[in-house]
Amino acid sequence: MTSTGRTTESVPTQLWMGGELAPAASGRTFDVLDPSNGQLLATISDAGAEDGLRALEMAADAQDEWAMTPPRVRGEILRAAYELIHLRADEFAKVMTLEMGKTLTESHGEVNYGAEFLRWFAEEAVRIGGRYSAAPAGNGQILVTKSPVGPVLAVTPWNFPLAMGTRKIAPALAAGCTIIVKPAEDTPLTMQLLGKVFADVGLPAGVLSILPTSTAPTLTAPLMADPRLRKITFTGSTAVGKLLVRNAADNLLRTSMELGGNAPFVVFDDADIDAAVDGAMAAKLRNGGQACTAANRLHVDNSVIEEFTDKLTSRIAALRMGPGIDPDTDIGPLINDRQRSVVADLVDDAVAKGARVRIGGSAPAGPGSFFTPTVLDNITSDARLLQEEIFGPVAAVIGFDGEEDGIAAANDTEFGLASYFYTRDIVRATRVASRLKSGMVGVNRGVISDAAAPFGGIKQSGYGREGGTEGIDEYLDTKYIAL
Ligand code: NAD
Repeated sequence: MTSTGRTTESVPTQLWMGGELAPAASGRTFDVLDPSNGQLLATISDAGAEDGLRALEMAADAQDEWAMTPPRVRGEILRAAYELIHLRADEFAKVMTLEMGKTLTESHGEVNYGAEFLRWFAEEAVRIGGRYSAAPAGNGQILVTKSPVGPVLAVTPWNFPLAMGTRKIAPALAAGCTIIVKPAEDTPLTMQLLGKVFADVGLPAGVLSILPTSTAPTLTAPLMADPRLRKITFTGSTAVGKLLVRNAADNLLRTSMELGGNAPFVVFDDADIDAAVDGAMAAKLRNGGQACTAANRLHVDNSVIEEFTDKLTSRIAALRMGPGIDPDTDIGPLINDRQRSVVADLVDDAVAKGARVRIGGSAPAGPGSFFTPTVLDNITSDARLLQEEIFGPVAAVIGFDGEEDGIAAANDTEFGLASYFYTRDIVRATRVASRLKSGMVGVNRGVISDAAAPFGGIKQSGYGREGGTEGIDEYLDTKYIAL
């Protein structure tokens, strides 16, 4: 398929059904659009209930053999997929940019990050441990082993079309689970390319299915009701996550929930302001602000707020907005017009309640789902964007007075995914890090994601961890053997 010379014709457009391409049973398709201009990128098969259950049958049939495949072999398949993604990095980055809108530089960054989960879990596949001890009564031994939970359903969002998938697929395969992936309807093409990578490296039939659909619940509800499915892992909004947890109850599925965020970014009076501005640019504007870890609120000590806001505003003013595929672009469009309206409403609400627009503040005319990078200050405490995820290039700067006030402001949210803060005082750094209520804390860092670290949240940001040595546990059951 082509649009204005931008080709996505290398992307498979049928469902990856247990490792082979097949049309949807209904014959239906749906369109994938370029958010920078609204034009058609590809028309792909639209999976329904029948396709899901067929994929589950294949996953259930393949489960025992995959679980018994030597861990080293499972690891080598993951490692081969890692290598192949790197060989195809340009293709992955281009397709990701076209369907999601992020810049090519950022897409290359995500290709590296997304592939890294395959390498990391290739290494973890051979380190699945257990334990052994003598029973205290002296009448036997206690042996504890780990076994794969069984067929998994993974539901992923559009903002990181590759990494949100590999963060689930890699540990599942490493643990010995078969898996069905439902990518986001806005960005299924990158995952379709990943399906080809796994087919090319010889992943056995049935182990992985990738089922794009335009009607998520039609596919997921019957799967979750089927006793052969044993786990759902989800990344997306808190509202949908809660719905899926409720749906998982009847079948008592294992669940992992990576949900929404509302990250505070705190700049203390002793911070290196230039470093903090660099960090804020990354934490706020990476992915156009469409990251669950995005800095949603910039809390700055009143003694340095003018310097910080002036410097941040001039950095943001210099950004060039445009299609991500254009190499001169610094910031691309939002994912779709719906998301742009959400961002515009939050900005309008804050401004109506008294916020000052330092720069930006509106959507430009013309095609594409763009929103001008924005800095707001003088935010009032009732502004909705303090409590809701902005998911756009809007920096909301709020003042505070002293450390206690800064910590209280940072923790004033029902979410608990990531927090960031800047200080030059190591004692303050350890003190504040321990008091911030979030699953992840960046200290003098604006980007914290790392395949070797446990990624995840607390409170309304969900539970479960992806990456690190913890990530594989989500796909393992514990078995006690009395000897
Ligand atoms: P979303 O919840 O609307 O969609 C996520 C996925 O769920 C998509 O694949 C979608 O098709 C599917 N879905 C939607 N409704 C469903 C239903 N009723 N049944 C089954 N599946 C359904 O979220 P989104 O807009 O795609 O992504 C943005 C959200 O994801 C933000 O809140 C962001 O914070 C969160 N997110 C969290 C993390 C994390 O690791 N915590 C990472 C990235 C994004």
